[in-house]
Amino acid sequence: METQNENNSRNPAVTPEQIEAMLTRLEDIRRRIAAACEKAGRSTDSVKLMAVTKTVDPVLINAAIDAGIRLLGENRVQEFLSKRESYSPAAEVQFIGRLQTNKIRQIIDKVTLIHAVDSLHLAQAIDREAQKKNLICPVLIEVNIGGELTKGGITPENAAELIKAINELPHLRAEGLMTIPPPVADPIQQEAVFAKMYELRERLREECGCSLDTLSMGMSGDYEAAILHGSTIVRIGSALFGARNYPPKAL
Ligand SMILES: *Cc1c(COP(=O)(O)O)cnc(C)c1O
Repeated sequence: METQNENNSRNPAVTPEQIEAMLTRLEDIRRRIAAACEKAGRSTDSVKLMAVTKTVDPVLINAAIDAGIRLLGENRVQEFLSKRESYSPAAEVQFIGRLQTNKIRQIIDKVTLIHAVDSLHLAQAIDREAQKKNLICPVLIEVNIGGELTKGGITPENAAELIKAINELPHLRAEGLMTIPPPVADPIQQEAVFAKMYELRERLREECGCSLDTLSMGMSGDYEAAILHGSTIVRIGSALFGARNYPPKAL
């Protein structure tokens, strides 16, 4: 149950103006995705637009689904569980946040992909829960491409070993890579990071003997650059729903 306090601290009501503004931003994002795809010589449907929903009111999320959004990204277990009943069922949900092993059970049969697997410990825990529910759980390996000590993700050097170990787990399937690159001001540097991810994926494909088709990279500030370097899922929050009312420190 939510307390009165929590209710008030969240968006109390979504106005028609907010919905209008979101729809305008969505059109703009779609145009930019199409333009980036064209520039990269890719078909527009090779990139999925994920709407990242943290802190966003379900009314606004459903308006996005009504406008054609078919993929939602959640990164907080409790928030997801408290909001999911309100979501229109037309969209699938993927989990993009840090996942604590004791919370896997609560979400494993409610999401279609887990994006941020960065250790064998976590992979084994997901495999055990997937076995209990008798399902095979698709996952992405989170790579710390920027080498930032404070961030999650496995180092590029250790990725192959983790993927091979995951491929041995009967209830897990490694579908690709995910990254949250460090913020850089210089667009050339930014592209270099995504290019590095693409090359890493190509190398891991050979080394691990699996296709790793999904590349989850690109957020509000850098999705066009990510598309130029092979991203297949762009995870967009603030550029679609507007600025969040707290700093996004819990990435
Ligand atoms: C919040 C979040 C995003 C979206 O961030 P924006 O910059 O608002 O688009 C993408 N990926 C992850 C993992 C996030 O937590």
